[in-house]
Amino acid sequence: MRKCLPLFLISLAVLTVAQTAPKPTRAVAPAPRPSSAGFAAMETINPDRIRAHVRFLAHDLLEGRGTGQRGGDIAGEYIATQFALYGLKPAGDNGSYMQKVPMVGITPAPGTTFSLVPASGGVMPLKVLDEYVAYDQTQQPQSDIDAPIVFVGFGIHAPEYNWDDYKDADLKGRVLLMLVNEPPSDDPKFFKGKALTYYGRWTYKLEEAARRGAVGAILIHQTEMASYPWEVVRNSNSGEKSYLKLDGAPKLRAASWIQLAVAQKLATASGLDLGKLMTEALSRDFKPVPLSVKLQAHMVSRVRAFESNNVIGLLPGADAKLNDEAVLYTAHYDHLGIRPDMPGDNIYNGADDNATGCGVLLELARAFGQASQKPRRSIIFASVTAEEQGLLGSEYLGKHPPIPAGKITLDLNYDDIPPLGAPEEVEVAGSERTDFYRTVEATAKDFRLKIRPDAHPEAGHYYRSDHFSLARVGIPSFSVNEGIKYRGRDEAWGLAQDEEYNQKHYHQPSDEYHPEMDFTGDGTMARFGFVLGWQAATQPHLVGWEKGDEFEAARLKSGG
Ligand SMILES: [Zn+2]
Repeated sequence: MRKCLPLFLISLAVLTVAQTAPKPTRAVAPAPRPSSAGFAAMETINPDRIRAHVRFLAHDLLEGRGTGQRGGDIAGEYIATQFALYGLKPAGDNGSYMQKVPMVGITPAPGTTFSLVPASGGVMPLKVLDEYVAYDQTQQPQSDIDAPIVFVGFGIHAPEYNWDDYKDADLKGRVLLMLVNEPPSDDPKFFKGKALTYYGRWTYKLEEAARRGAVGAILIHQTEMASYPWEVVRNSNSGEKSYLKLDGAPKLRAASWIQLAVAQKLATASGLDLGKLMTEALSRDFKPVPLSVKLQAHMVSRVRAFESNNVIGLLPGADAKLNDEAVLYTAHYDHLGIRPDMPGDNIYNGADDNATGCGVLLELARAFGQASQKPRRSIIFASVTAEEQGLLGSEYLGKHPPIPAGKITLDLNYDDIPPLGAPEEVEVAGSERTDFYRTVEATAKDFRLKIRPDAHPEAGHYYRSDHFSLARVGIPSFSVNEGIKYRGRDEAWGLAQDEEYNQKHYHQPSDEYHPEMDFTGDGTMARFGFVLGWQAATQPHLVGWEKGDEFEAARLKSGG
């Protein structure tokens, strides 16, 4: 995925956000430029090879590279074959290039009931999709909940911002009612000001609730706070959703959202005022508030197990002292597959998304593999699966890396690199959070690329692409992409291309390969990433996060 922000979000965001990238505080000098052998290898990167990979991977015969489908498996085999031809060592399971990713699909099924039960007064059964949506994350066909509801504000525990909504409340066996997003702020030192941190994402809130032993979580949907309407919640929470197979981590029997009006009824039934509760939640002194209402639910789900592979190859580094450490490159190869029941063209070819990123990854692997001299650290190439299912392949890779996460110095991710010509800008959002930023700046200058800042940090794009799965386990990570301005075109042209892609082709069968596509920019992004990777693989120290960054603790824990 990339640039998939719906238009109504963009218009909202334009009103609210200043566009300056925060400057890093740690003064780390740029890494030395690559050796002449490194430069020579970079010079071999050829946009027409990227084109050839895209043409094949986006072919109708690949049937849209669906996760757990034949076309997706063929794409994985193709990538593994290329890795073998480039001389990469297999770094998957049992001496192969394949790392098996076990997943389950969960579909809420008829028979599910979801009711609010006040201490006194009548039971309030809620209507699915209109008033609530819920998934059972325990991966069981049936579960029951009969538990008191506790309001926990934003449901955030963020020591680095001195914020704890939970205090020391015992929430085992409870259902946690919480607000979306994070405490609003203009102060960049407090939840990064207007930018969204991971604490504001609903995925964090559900994970935190489960960690605290809750049996369920109910998020209160409020359009302004979520910055998208209920329809988005409803549409992305009906039908099958995929998860990694249970790994022993605690899970919720109900991960749910309710409409604001339902939350109001719920507060009233407890003799409380929702507006007042929401105001109290804005304070550091907030403490969890038990409600006199229980959630009674019977969850019925269809559970389908399936699997797919991450494809991983490794190029050993030249320095025996450093080659147990590595730079990682990632790009997802899955897309949405084929819909046999759909009339007309029903193949989601995913040419831009993300055959382009795979083409770049393969060309990087070839250039490194065939370089006459290798960088000091090793290089790992991972083409991951199930991105479109919610970053599942990369999540599994982060939890099961081929070498310890603390020894991976940097992840560079490629997702949806538009074949539109020669870019004059590069997007590297998130790099400014690492002590590698001076190198990124210097390299961009060498390539005569302007760094384009994230125009919508409040939308939290950083948390919606595969690099985030690696950042979560502490690895300094970001995606590399083109900006908006192209040589010989004005910015309006770039914006118009972007808009047309989002409206007409993004996640549609028309995201197809065309011979007139211009892969110059894909080649430039590959060369740019080659130089960054070479430098990270060569400089004396491992890359780190800026002091106080939300991922710094994970990095320290992993020993990096
Ligand atoms: Zn994508």
